[in-house]
Amino acid sequence: MVEVKIGLEIHCQLTGLQSKLFCACQCDYRGRAPNTNICPICSGLPGTLPLLNQRAVDFASMISLALRCKVPDKVMFYRKNYFYLDLPKNFQITQYNAYGITSIGVEGRVDYGIKSTKIRRVQLEEDPGRLIYDTSFYTLIDYNRAGVSLVEIVTEPDFAEPKDVRMFLNKITSIIEHLGVGDTKLDGSVRCDVNVSLEGGKRVEIKNVGSFKDVEKALGYEITRQKTMSVRDIEIKSETRHWDDARKVTKQSRAKEEEEDYRYFPEPDIPTIVLGNEFLSSLKAKMPELPDERKIRFLKEYELSDHVSQVLIDNKDLADFFESTVKIYSSSPNEIANWIVSDLLGFIDDSKMEEGSLFSGLRIEAKHMAELVKMVDQNIINRNIAKMILSQITKTGEMPSYVLDKMNASLIDSKAIISEAIESIFKSEKAAVRDAKQNPNAANFLLGKVMQLTGGRADPKIALNLIKTKLAIME
Ligand SMILES: [Zn+2]
Repeated sequence: MVEVKIGLEIHCQLTGLQSKLFCACQCDYRGRAPNTNICPICSGLPGTLPLLNQRAVDFASMISLALRCKVPDKVMFYRKNYFYLDLPKNFQITQYNAYGITSIGVEGRVDYGIKSTKIRRVQLEEDPGRLIYDTSFYTLIDYNRAGVSLVEIVTEPDFAEPKDVRMFLNKITSIIEHLGVGDTKLDGSVRCDVNVSLEGGKRVEIKNVGSFKDVEKALGYEITRQKTMSVRDIEIKSETRHWDDARKVTKQSRAKEEEEDYRYFPEPDIPTIVLGNEFLSSLKAKMPELPDERKIRFLKEYELSDHVSQVLIDNKDLADFFESTVKIYSSSPNEIANWIVSDLLGFIDDSKMEEGSLFSGLRIEAKHMAELVKMVDQNIINRNIAKMILSQITKTGEMPSYVLDKMNASLIDSKAIISEAIESIFKSEKAAVRDAKQNPNAANFLLGKVMQLTGGRADPKIALNLIKTKLAIME
């Protein structure tokens, strides 16, 4: 087995803030005309002074505490010098560990599933502007984003498998969402760089992979690429690559710059910030419930299974939806959770899951789910009907009882009517009938067809019995 080491650098915008990190421009730059959300400070004009956003320090400290990091008594900001057009000042104000003063969080740990990853550091910094490669002749630049608060989370290279990385990233997003410091569903609000090495060899970095699903794919590709090279005795170079989403490969972008190229030095325009015990204890008192605590509460308070609780907690929207439903109908939390995890999730496509915006496009609300589960509990409808109603609600936003009335979904239990439907299906599905005679499990396919024909109104038990009897007496 070749030992694979993967480390992550996650950039997460603090979109819960009103203004940028060092000026009064709006944090929310999305949807605005290019270069309209800027001022002399964030466009880096000479002679301007940064004024630190105190809430950004609160938010970054909360993230550090949630990732079980040490938060130092004092923090400083540094200039990271580089010349690139997304950064009008020619340096980024960020944090750095030097002279015994660390960034806002160090030496943390995050558990996910049965595994755990160490957090090297959490730092608060400003986002650069955005480059738009519009045509092959021009690159456009929009500074609306320049100066937005960004928290960088750097892990130790503790991951060995891409799927662990995916689980970890889900956990991080869920923590950010629970803290209420950022909306991870916004486009570009969470970005990830990954680094990969084999057997302690050279580190290859893959920059700015767009989505978490792509992180898993990019890692899969990169690990295979490096393994193939090492089998053929080709030297793996330390380099920066980027993920080409269209071709599903990583491509070399530039030779790796060394750390000292950035010539870090303390930002002279921002004094040392004193945090201290009082600050930390007041912050701890204000911390909202975090995913791990919420999961324990779900296990205890609602007696949900570990798996179901985990699926709910992994996405705050889902966990919130569950609790809102239970507030309306409190008799069957377990049933509600199962309907959400096994059935409702089936209506949410993978891309939405990926963006984290589960409910966008779905018309369902907690009151719908509450009424639906109550109707099943009271035997007003059976599960098959309930599933059909659920499918309807997600599209129309109508109440289940209304959908039921419309469907006139009282079960058909008349054998005569069901037999008629079966007759017609046996005629149209001859191959499936032959199949079902050999293999009794295939009878379910015929049952499905009968249910379809009767608009889901046939009593499935009676229908299945009739199908089996008919198969048994056939030659
Ligand atoms: Zn500004």
